[in-house]
Amino acid sequence: MKQKITVALAGNPNAGKTTIFNALTGARQHVGNWPGVTVEKKEGTLKHKGREIHIVDLPGTYSLTAFSLEEIIARNFIVDSRPDLVINVVDASNLERNLYLSVQLLEMGCKLVIVLNMIDVARGRGIIIDETLFSNLIGVPVVTTNGKKGVGMDSLVDAIISQVEEPQSPEDFTRFTYGVEVEDELYKIQGLLYTNSFSSATVNTRWVSAKLLEGDTEIIKKIDSLDHRAKVMEQVDKSRSHLTNIFGDSPEIVLADARYGFISGAIKQTVQVERTDRVNLSESIDKVLTNRLLGPLILLAVLYSVYIFTFNGSAPLVKYFDSFFSWLGDSVSTILPEGLLKSLIVSGMIKGVGGVLGFTPLIAFMFFAIAILEDTGYMARIAFMLDRVLRGFGLHGASMLALMVAGGIAGGCAVPGIMATRTMKEPKERLVTILVAPLMNCGAKLPVYALLIGAFFPGNRAAIMFLLTLISWVMVLLAGRAIRSTVLSGPSAPFVLELPPYRVPTFQGLLIHTWERTWMYLKKAGTVILAVSIIIWVLMTFPGLSTEQKAFFEEKQDNLTSHFLNDPAVSSVLKNQQDLKSFEDSQSAEGKDTQQIATPLTLKYAQYKEDKLGLENEEQSKKLRGTVAGRVGAGLVWVFKPIGFDWKTNVALLGGFAAKEVVVSTLGTAYSMGAVEREQYPTLSEQLKHEPGWNPLMAFTLIMFVMLYAPCVVTLVVIKRETGKWRWMLFAMVYTTVLAYFVAFIVKTTGTLLGIGLT
Ligand code: GDP
Ligand code: MG
Repeated sequence: MKQKITVALAGNPNAGKTTIFNALTGARQHVGNWPGVTVEKKEGTLKHKGREIHIVDLPGTYSLTAFSLEEIIARNFIVDSRPDLVINVVDASNLERNLYLSVQLLEMGCKLVIVLNMIDVARGRGIIIDETLFSNLIGVPVVTTNGKKGVGMDSLVDAIISQVEEPQSPEDFTRFTYGVEVEDELYKIQGLLYTNSFSSATVNTRWVSAKLLEGDTEIIKKIDSLDHRAKVMEQVDKSRSHLTNIFGDSPEIVLADARYGFISGAIKQTVQVERTDRVNLSESIDKVLTNRLLGPLILLAVLYSVYIFTFNGSAPLVKYFDSFFSWLGDSVSTILPEGLLKSLIVSGMIKGVGGVLGFTPLIAFMFFAIAILEDTGYMARIAFMLDRVLRGFGLHGASMLALMVAGGIAGGCAVPGIMATRTMKEPKERLVTILVAPLMNCGAKLPVYALLIGAFFPGNRAAIMFLLTLISWVMVLLAGRAIRSTVLSGPSAPFVLELPPYRVPTFQGLLIHTWERTWMYLKKAGTVILAVSIIIWVLMTFPGLSTEQKAFFEEKQDNLTSHFLNDPAVSSVLKNQQDLKSFEDSQSAEGKDTQQIATPLTLKYAQYKEDKLGLENEEQSKKLRGTVAGRVGAGLVWVFKPIGFDWKTNVALLGGFAAKEVVVSTLGTAYSMGAVEREQYPTLSEQLKHEPGWNPLMAFTLIMFVMLYAPCVVTLVVIKRETGKWRWMLFAMVYTTVLAYFVAFIVKTTGTLLGIGLT
């Protein structure tokens, strides 16, 4: 360690800086002025174990913006003279206001020791601070002192020495984050500063970016000399108006809110106040919303209304979308000639992509609801209330946002959920969160649920969805606990749960959030799903029947027809194939609404038609079984037999590995190709209801399997990228599938034994 170190004292006016300065330096003081101004500058030295500690008493400030001379002096000293350490003197009896400066010092990335001074006053007011936890949460050493009586000065000197000796890693000061929106913009500005070779050795570019975003005139002056100043300022302006659009407030206010959020969270976690006289609006709202008893009840009610809103609200639009795609399929069907091309476009593309796009309104409604929860600040309260519970399962209150985004309220996506864990600083909790997030009910699973619920539980849509959400949470918690006590054991780290003030969201902000996420879903549906639908169509079409098999079925068909035509009751009316053709046309033309009079001919004809359908069914299913997909699906039947999946379901699950939505489109393709009675059951869910082997139990077993089994390919790629290890990607793939099988087996067996859902 250096023999001579420089330490600056920063703090609000009247926090006790000068008192502490005097206690540390005694008589070794020098009083002068700051260069060029008449603000008093006090310096002094402290000799400790042969070391010389040079101490500078900075002017008292509440903030480090450029509003006053004092602020500019304090800030410039920290930026330009780079003291080895800043001692932040905090009035412990007035924590909330005082910590605003501390957060800014944290942001600046300087080495910090926080002094909780006036501890006597704080205690006198019934304020009890868990200083160890507080220190762990913000990642800064904390010393409590009574400056007036000189209590705690030795601990302070020890803390100064050990903190200066501590090697500093760049991560040390990123404990505090502004939230995704602002961080994204900061990242863009910071990137430009780097490419402009803005010396990061002397200034923290993240802090500079934040100041630019706040429109800090002093800092804007500082970058005047940059070559690419115009480019940087252009980005700053863009970011500022983007944030203003989303939040409906200036970036200054948005950033300040984030700081206050961090502070309120830290205080709520570590400080107990036996009496309180200062109450603000957010605090009084919190008294109700995060109340021990009322809080969880309100939470459940809120989540339930989100479902009602999403499902009932979007229902009419979903209907429109659905009928649009069936109209499209029908129109294309009538235009195109029978054959491969028609099959590709109708079965492969329109059915596949339409099945997924049809749910777009539902997804958009869900994202809108989530945006409301996030933008009002209620989401942060949810994290806060559930932190205790989550910790019990090896997760973190901060996991909450990631899990929510991943589909904690059905309708998210594991990919942004996993990305959201970037704000988590604890490697273990972060990894567990990444590994369990795919178990949540992402938007891609919703179409599968909607299909099966629509077919088998039509009367209880919202209730079943609610149940599924609860189940996925239970699974996430159990899996988290299991992973944390086996492959990832070890103690958990503390973390500040930010509590931003409540705010009324702007409609524009809500729309932007909803649109961004819905667009991501659409892009996925348009690209990955289209490609996957086509690949699956190919796998389900080729190689098909062999020439001998075709001939075999043709012959059988001919036999059936000639047998019918030779029947005495028929041959008198229908002489040949030609007659049969026109009779069939007239039958289907009258068919539907006119009541048929039963004659020997019509009776015979009905029998014939039924036989013919049976034969066609047989041929179609032979054909499917002969395709690549059919063979793989059939090959897997022995594996899935215990949970009752047929080979068509197996094929669908294979497709779902590419993207979960594909389960629906593949089931659609499989059953529309295999069944002839398409006229009779116009929708897939109608059709499934009438398929042998399908019942509510089967549907629920499949829902459980789809909820839990291997994450989709995109998610796996992101897991690899975020954890940096193939190992974790493989682990995520295998453990989820084993879990899915196990749970599906239990559901299936229990249901069968108890006779639930069999009809
Ligand atoms: P500065 O503006 O930060 O330099 O604050 P000062 O050092 O001038 O202190 C402001 C007032 O608080 C003075 O009257 C001090 O005597 C008093 N003071 C400082 N520290 C303590 C403390 O720990 N407890 C109490 N009760 N008073 C203190
Ligand atoms: Mg003073």
